[in-house]
Amino acid sequence: MSQTIISIDNVRKSYGHFEVLKGISLDVPRGQVVALLGPSGSGKSTLLRCINHLETINAGKIHVNGELIGYEERGHRLHQLPDKQIARQRRAIGMVFQSFNLFRHMTVLDNVMSGPLQVLRQNRGEARTKALELLGLVGLSDKADSYPSQLSGGQQQRVAIARTLAMEPKVLLLDEPTSALDPELSKEVISTIRGLADLGYTMMIATHEMSIASSFCDRAVFMADGHVVEDRPAAEFFAAPREARTRQFLDHYA
Ligand code: ADP
Ligand code: MG
Repeated sequence: MSQTIISIDNVRKSYGHFEVLKGISLDVPRGQVVALLGPSGSGKSTLLRCINHLETINAGKIHVNGELIGYEERGHRLHQLPDKQIARQRRAIGMVFQSFNLFRHMTVLDNVMSGPLQVLRQNRGEARTKALELLGLVGLSDKADSYPSQLSGGQQQRVAIARTLAMEPKVLLLDEPTSALDPELSKEVISTIRGLADLGYTMMIATHEMSIASSFCDRAVFMADGHVVEDRPAAEFFAAPREARTRQFLDHYA
């Protein structure tokens, strides 16, 4: 049974007169791992930011876990939700960025515990147990008391992933999670993300790393100029891309 957890319906987004997303529609079933591909500037980050309501869309609708993001419907009208409601919705949507943005003055353990303590209001014992478990999951149990500056980039990104998971998100959006890392360090982050896929997390991953997209993503969505150009099971997409734009893009990465 495939239950839609992210539903993107004819979404448009402009910056000034420049339309970045020109009517994007995409339904993601629970547990699916989607690779979001496309040349720089095609709108991948913007789309992920819209799902998380970091950007306000100009038209269309986004639902996550059945909830309309950013708005409530009254009659035929949409009304902006109060900030508090938006913050609550955001908590269910985990976001991992290219730049890991850890708190430099906090240990790894405190980084992972900070959201659960301050936002979810968990008690210290509960937050600590959960954080240690998540550090185990990303393979960093031995780094709990280290500071971010003592870690490699790959380790820092894995801490950032653990910190995101600590908020118990319903879906995970990853925006170029390995592009700040050299290939060796990318590998350990990719293997962490693959582990999350195996655990059944629903993920949308914007990436230029074809090994992520081709090795464990279920589905490849190729964007260009604010449109979805091709959207197919990843295996088929890589074996036999249909669209000329897609082939051109893949040739570039071959
Ligand atoms: P991608 O992640 O696929 O590289 P982006 O979503 O970052 O693409 O950007 C899509 C387009 O939108 C680009 O042309 C970019 O310059 C433009 N853009 C992104 N963010 C902003 C912004 N805050 N203001 C104006 N233009 C933006
Ligand atoms: Mg981007």
